[in-house]
Amino acid sequence: MKQMEEKILREGQVLPGDILKVGSFLNQNIDTVFLGEMAREFARLFADEGINKVLTIEASGIAIATAVGLEMGVPVLFAKKHRTSNVDGGVYTAKVHSFTHNEDYNVVVSSDYLLPTDRVLLVDDFLANGQALNGLMDLCRQAGAEVAGVAIAIEKCFSGAGDKLRAQGVHLESLAMIESMTDDEVIFRS
Ligand code: 5GP
Repeated sequence: MKQMEEKILREGQVLPGDILKVGSFLNQNIDTVFLGEMAREFARLFADEGINKVLTIEASGIAIATAVGLEMGVPVLFAKKHRTSNVDGGVYTAKVHSFTHNEDYNVVVSSDYLLPTDRVLLVDDFLANGQALNGLMDLCRQAGAEVAGVAIAIEKCFSGAGDKLRAQGVHLESLAMIESMTDDEVIFRS
């Protein structure tokens, strides 16, 4: 999606540790008009997948997921983050290593909301090493739900996680695919 690349070039900031800051339009101050365009693009890309539910992780995935759910006319479920594994019954839980905070946490969803009949679209803002996605996929496996697609706003291709998933047959679509980034240059996959 050309507009996403242009936004990153105009407003993105590369921080130490291979972190791209996009707080001005996506992660903190949300450009709602642009969010609508992203959602329409994802709805178009996954129109044939029979999706009946969107699943993301709190917090930064929620805005994008909600816009996509609205556009597709399906409910949006978000996995909650817990520091400990001491959670009540009636839930599915998976461990995730946080890319940005370098610590482990658990992602949790109620078994009332993720069902074996679901065809799920996983949505997140970034794909780096794929840990967050693996956690969401694990929750779907536990529920017996089908992962029908993965929608990522910004993929950092240099980690290789996205290509590995595609090679496994996952329908993964990213609106911007970054091959490399430094303080003064971001190169996209062509
Ligand atoms: P992964 O689990 O794929 O290694 O990392 C994805 C998660 O880490 C996303 O949910 C996202 O919140 C966060 N993340 C990874 N890379 C970046 C980045 O460059 N910038 C920001 N803002 N978040 C990132």
